[in-house]
Amino acid sequence: MIKKFKRIVIKIGSNSIVDSKTKKIKSKWLDKLCKDIAQLHKTKKIIVVCSGAIALGSKSITKSVIRKLEDKQAAASIGQIELAYQWRSKLKKFKINVSQILLTLEDSEIRRRYLNARNTIQSLQNKNIIPIINENDTVATEEIRYGDNDKLAARVAQMIGADLLVLMSDVDGLYEKNPKKIKNTKKISEIYKIDKKIEKLAKSQTSELGSGGMTTKIMAAKICSDNGCTTVITNSNKNNPITSISIKNSTFFYPSNSKNSSKKKWLLNHLSPSGSFIIDEGARRAILKN
Ligand code: GLU
Repeated sequence: MIKKFKRIVIKIGSNSIVDSKTKKIKSKWLDKLCKDIAQLHKTKKIIVVCSGAIALGSKSITKSVIRKLEDKQAAASIGQIELAYQWRSKLKKFKINVSQILLTLEDSEIRRRYLNARNTIQSLQNKNIIPIINENDTVATEEIRYGDNDKLAARVAQMIGADLLVLMSDVDGLYEKNPKKIKNTKKISEIYKIDKKIEKLAKSQTSELGSGGMTTKIMAAKICSDNGCTTVITNSNKNNPITSISIKNSTFFYPSNSKNSSKKKWLLNHLSPSGSFIIDEGARRAILKN
């Protein structure tokens, strides 16, 4: 299933990369993932969006669950070093260089910064370097943050014109009912349109360490769908976490046929839309004529 895609954004949630009990990196799992990434990197452009900074740094802040935003930010600043170190050393074994990019919501919402970030990523890709991206948690306050890396990853996918976004999860995909509560419920393999019914299904299906859950994954899939990019939700707990992805073990969301220009799509998928328009009579007439 993965072969036909050329630009792939891989989003890894805290649950996938950090052990929820020890709060340490799942080293063996990351080895398997890096092997897969190294294989794909030979013929495709790969970008990683990786969570886990807060989870990794939390043990230095408190033994219990972190609640205050400033403590989460402090934990992220500790954990991010560890996260970047792990990626660098694991991919170095395959002679692959990595870079770290920390983005804030404004970097995707303000056009000039969006284009700057895009240019930086393109420049790294031209040099065959894999960017490892996370939210810049230490400066992001509650009102101006992505809050979860699913939406960040979707905006990154849009930024670089990716054709596939892989959302790694602790479940195989979207189910007809919550699989953690109801046994033998069926996984949905392919979704062509994200409608109210799909959004409702996603609402109840959440996870432990990260902040996202299914709802934000569906929001991410929606952004990608508008931008001609396929999204797949897949279980990270497999031997070849990426190369073994198929309709049988994952949920695929296919793109819509939106004909909007890339600037319109960027505007349309703003995560925190705000502002006002002042239009004159001529503009009013032009808008009414589409
Ligand atoms: N940026 C956060 C971290 O690295 C994770 C956000 C999320 O839950 O996706 O811990």
